[in-house]
Amino acid sequence: MSVATPSATPRIITRSEHNVSRAHISPNALRVLYRLRDGGFQAFLVGGCVRDLLLGMEPKDFDVATDALPEQIKRLFRNCRLIGRRFRLAHVFFGREIIEVATFRAASAPSPGEEPVPDVDSEDGEAVELEESERELEAYEPVREARTPFESDSSERAVDETGRILRDNVYGTIDADVWRRDFTCNSLYYNIADFSIWDYVNGAQDVAARTLRMIGDPETRFREDPVRMLRAARFEAKLGFSIEPNTAAPIGELRESLAGVPQARLFDETLKLFLGGHGASSFRVLRARGLLASILPTVDAYLASHPGSTVEKLLLQGLENTDARVRADKPVTPTFLFALLLYGPIAGIIEGTPPEHWHELATILDACDQAVREAQARISIPKRFSLGVREMFALQPRLEHPRGRRALRSLEHPRFRAAYDLLLLRAQLGLASQETADWWTRLQEVSPEQRGEMADARAGDGSRGPGSAGGSGAPRPRSGRRRRRRSGPRST
Ligand code: ATP
Ligand code: MG
Repeated sequence: MSVATPSATPRIITRSEHNVSRAHISPNALRVLYRLRDGGFQAFLVGGCVRDLLLGMEPKDFDVATDALPEQIKRLFRNCRLIGRRFRLAHVFFGREIIEVATFRAASAPSPGEEPVPDVDSEDGEAVELEESERELEAYEPVREARTPFESDSSERAVDETGRILRDNVYGTIDADVWRRDFTCNSLYYNIADFSIWDYVNGAQDVAARTLRMIGDPETRFREDPVRMLRAARFEAKLGFSIEPNTAAPIGELRESLAGVPQARLFDETLKLFLGGHGASSFRVLRARGLLASILPTVDAYLASHPGSTVEKLLLQGLENTDARVRADKPVTPTFLFALLLYGPIAGIIEGTPPEHWHELATILDACDQAVREAQARISIPKRFSLGVREMFALQPRLEHPRGRRALRSLEHPRFRAAYDLLLLRAQLGLASQETADWWTRLQEVSPEQRGEMADARAGDGSRGPGSAGGSGAPRPRSGRRRRRRSGPRST
């Protein structure tokens, strides 16, 4: 089977034939499913959560699909907000967990994930803070609301007195919903009514074979929404699935169509690729499929023109460290990620200036600004992350040359931790002094009095720390060049 065409009726995989247990489903998702069911609606888990549960993995989030219309969902859950423009869907809030509840989509509806979510502040890239009252766990108390005739507020929709959709351009039935989804593995529906899985596309078989297969004609579906190419790469990296050849074939030709995707959406996808715990493998897959050039052309160009460079090793090592942090449930930040990704472009810009300026703060900051500007042509980088990148790079010379008690002030800098992590990485790759990096490590471990002593001991160091392996705070892709920091023109 090369093209996965959804069948008219699903194959129903009964509870005894699959391994998806309610013990592994978020209790809040179960609450939502049960309440929809008790309200007389169909309610399914759908998407990545069913796929991940079948694979024995812990799902990142739980998405629900139902035949209840958005306004009907809203009536069932007080802790609920409707979002989306053309296709409205509901977010049900349980503290920090959000269960997304979507009405089945008709053939004309946008695909899940295609419409930008409006409560994401595109300047900030982060969901707006919810008021405390909205975080309350109101869904615990059962709502005994009779199903009343539903009045449509839009001429696009018509429903009968039971809420059944009669005419609707946007909302549809489950068998139409299947067509709006991307890959067969993402199109399995777990039915809360009897705990069976509905499979219209042989998705369970593909999950078992670890195959990523597009639903419908791959080229058409990639053209409809080029982000699906990045999603394919993400699932290849994250799940270790192989992309089925017919699905993979159009990517080479269509990857440039990603240039037409809104920058904010590419930013979101980039975070999913690199901050989801599989960043290093996402990087390899994106490069191998030529997709890095479509989202971060300057990064790809630097790496292509510096094969096997120290910068590439630094980037990969940094991504691996980030993956380890995700696995250990430690926080990760877009700021650090973009410092890694833009390291090459920043270094490339610095290298383009006369060597005597390479280690000047102004050169470093200008290079950061230019690298961010160039990246912004494709992907938005919200200001506070780009400013963070700038601060991380600006702190490198200060960290490399701690002088007296002023060094202690760097510890208080809001970006100290990220800058220190970058210094460690640079030291590991021979781009900064390991001894100085170790000094900062020790400094953080000792008492305030000892800190003072350690700082005093560095007071007379002059412009170079002992054992410095190059005094530059600037990214130094080429090894072997030793330069004095801000020590006058042509110091070497
Ligand atoms: P993850 O593990 O990252 O959560 P996921 O498959 O659940 O992976 P989501 O972005 O959470 O991905 O989307 C949920 C579901 O919505 C997907 O499984 C898929 O069925 C559908 N979907 C999301 N984005 C798209 C898209 N661009 N085109 C088609 N279907 C999509
Ligand atoms: Mg998901």
